[in-house]
Amino acid sequence: MVVPLPDVGGRDGILKVHTKKIPLSEDVDISVLARGTPGFSGADLANLVNEAALLAARQNRKHVIMADFESSKDKVMMGKERRSMVLSEEEKRITAFHEAGHTLVICKVPNADPLHKVTIIPRGMTLGVTAWLPEGDRHTSSKDYLEDRLTIAMGGRVAEELFLNSMTTGAANDIEKATELARDMVCEYGMSDLGPLAFGKNQQEIFLGRDLATQRDFSEDTAIKIDQEVKKFVMTGYQRAKDILGSNREALTRIAEALLEREVLDANEVKLLIEGRPLPERVLPSPQPQTTQVLKPQPTPGVPGRERPQPA
Ligand code: ZN
Repeated sequence: MVVPLPDVGGRDGILKVHTKKIPLSEDVDISVLARGTPGFSGADLANLVNEAALLAARQNRKHVIMADFESSKDKVMMGKERRSMVLSEEEKRITAFHEAGHTLVICKVPNADPLHKVTIIPRGMTLGVTAWLPEGDRHTSSKDYLEDRLTIAMGGRVAEELFLNSMTTGAANDIEKATELARDMVCEYGMSDLGPLAFGKNQQEIFLGRDLATQRDFSEDTAIKIDQEVKKFVMTGYQRAKDILGSNREALTRIAEALLEREVLDANEVKLLIEGRPLPERVLPSPQPQTTQVLKPQPTPGVPGRERPQPA
């Protein structure tokens, strides 16, 4: 399924349509929202508006304010918070170091999209989330950018290994995504030493009931080389993540400890932690209005999820 994502002008239009019947406060600036939601589909934007309206209604406000849209954006980007899911101290600690690993790599590699937020509040099916925002509308990706993506994906697992001396299943989704991406880089984007060739295009016809092996348009010898190139991309990312986190141990520990204490950090707070500067006191347990809720575990236990929605 290929649905081109709307660009900033498209998002502006879509948001205007969806907010037409909703009373907006004067502080709501649709053009700011449109600029801050690259990568959102039309459905995501509809969802964003709905959620914001619900938040306002829940607080008995007559108008939807900009803060409603900001919270709603987090929810659409990172999944719904599941405060009912109680993590053990050990799980929290692992999640904090895992996410701190992704976060620190994002801040240290040259071609990453800027960090949006990192949280260890379970959301959707995930235990923790590191979210970033594409700076602009991205239509093509460079090899450098994709190599950095691989490094970011490896950051979680590497942090677990370096700082907790353990490996958990929490990295499964990162590993799967990284392997897929590396394979695309070799087989579709022609970015490996095998050259600008496409391999395995015919596999899309598998659903016709044909055998995978007969559909392969390359030799056994090439198959082995493809596997080697895929492994090379992933392992290079892994090694880069190891170098970055290994030489920034204090910063990583500061981010993980702050996550354990505050549960959510925004990009600015992460920057302060990396620089070793103190975090400002939180006047409001913000940045989201939801966090003012009492942190009482609900009686219904959630299904523990281990997957992550995005490669981070
Ligand atoms: Zn991860």
